[in-house]
Amino acid sequence: MEFFGHVIDGAEVKSASGETFASVDPYTREPWAEVALGGAGEVDRAVTAARRAFDEGPWPRLSRAERGRLLHRLADLIVADTDRLALADTRDMGKPIAQSRGKDVPRAADNFRFFADHARLTPAEALPMDSGHHAYTRYDPVGVAAAIAPWNFPLMLETWKIAPALAWGNTVVLKPAEDTPASATILARLALEAGLPPGVLNVVHGYGPGSAGQALTEHPGIDRITFTGESATGRVISAAAAKHLVPVSLELGGKGANAVFADADLGNAVDWSLKAIFTNAGQVCLAGSRLYVQRPVFEEFLARFTAGAEAMRLGDPKQESTDLGPLASETHYRKVRGYVETVAGEGGTVHSGGLGDGWFVRPTIVTGMPATGRHQREEIFGPVVTVTPFDAEDEVVALMNGTRYGLNAMLFTENLSRAHRVSARLRAGTVWVNCFFIRDLRAPFGGVGDSGVGREGGTFSREFFTEPKAVVMQIS
Ligand code: NAD
Repeated sequence: MEFFGHVIDGAEVKSASGETFASVDPYTREPWAEVALGGAGEVDRAVTAARRAFDEGPWPRLSRAERGRLLHRLADLIVADTDRLALADTRDMGKPIAQSRGKDVPRAADNFRFFADHARLTPAEALPMDSGHHAYTRYDPVGVAAAIAPWNFPLMLETWKIAPALAWGNTVVLKPAEDTPASATILARLALEAGLPPGVLNVVHGYGPGSAGQALTEHPGIDRITFTGESATGRVISAAAAKHLVPVSLELGGKGANAVFADADLGNAVDWSLKAIFTNAGQVCLAGSRLYVQRPVFEEFLARFTAGAEAMRLGDPKQESTDLGPLASETHYRKVRGYVETVAGEGGTVHSGGLGDGWFVRPTIVTGMPATGRHQREEIFGPVVTVTPFDAEDEVVALMNGTRYGLNAMLFTENLSRAHRVSARLRAGTVWVNCFFIRDLRAPFGGVGDSGVGREGGTFSREFFTEPKAVVMQIS
């Protein structure tokens, strides 16, 4: 079995205790990698190394152009190592290789390129005053950023946090999800190869509660916590951060709503709605898991959507032709299975799909589910979608806004005024009109309500990973 260690202070190391855990390939349901299991000791060593690299090392003192050059070199190495990185995520969590190779790894490289350039090119404010003074803003790095990541887009989401933190001159300790450790170690090896100084990017593996995750959030030596994961975990991490008054950025769960109006381009709506719920087997915070279709096109939409879902190819995620892999772990499979098995009990009908072999769940379409049913309110995080008819615009806006989550929404309409009107009324961090998951890394990304606190992306990442400082000078 391959071994993946922590990367602390420029070296790949085992845990002091020698303890390890296994990463299980959800397709074979066999362990494929052995991983160092860290705890408070490894976290302390990593934070100390990151602190030293920040306080005494060259990283925060390099020019932005020089840091950017190294981060671009890292992006080049990521691209060159695409196959290994993609296979690591696919083996760890069952993501189809076409997705990990074609989307996640290129986006990881782009994260470094974008934030390196953004930090170099973004102007700061100059504030000419008419009182004989002059004011301007500096954006200084904050110190050590703790990054805690989930398992659904391992490399892509880890780099979404690490890249802006590093580009703005901070050092980082990353705790990847325990189900997806491999690509983080490979990334940290590549960072050293690219020439990032020791201690600038550290990786500690382990679990959350009572393990490396908790130890990291409670460590007094960190200056920021950027977390992506479940809303319940976000609450625990927020409380840990409050103890040392450490600012947190929380990207949490979602229950994406997707409205198809009768005037929509139906083919386009069907295509995007399929992608919105079944990409990554529905294990996407942004998944369009509540689909609302205006009554005049309901039957036609449902027929075309069902045909599309039934045509999807389930299978070995290492095969280029696979659309849906298994769910990421046995624990997660059991959770999603629980939702599939309780559809009738909550008042709905499984229109198409259901459980597959092993840890597979087929693309599952549920109709007739009342708005109060758990399947319409709770994040299932699997390939399960409820489809509900609606009549009026006001009605669908109320339905879409009817959960505690507010990460994103989609709407499909050819009526320009309706697109703007409804977008403005939706309680969500992102609204996609006639598309899904199209990202501009300058845009704010984050959620409302239980979906998160704060925004990242472009200048929003700068605000989080720097201490803006006002400098006011007298002109004599
Ligand atoms: P999770 O909350 O179980 O775990 C996320 C990470 O937190 C893991 O690394 C875990 O080890 C760690 N962790 C758990 N408990 C901890 C604790 N007490 N202290 C410190 N660390 C702890 O989430 P998950 O199951 O890995 O990911 C799925 C969730 O992530 C879903 O709810 C999904 O919607 C959400 N998500 C959100 C976004 C977004 O951008 N908003 C993106 C992807 C995933």
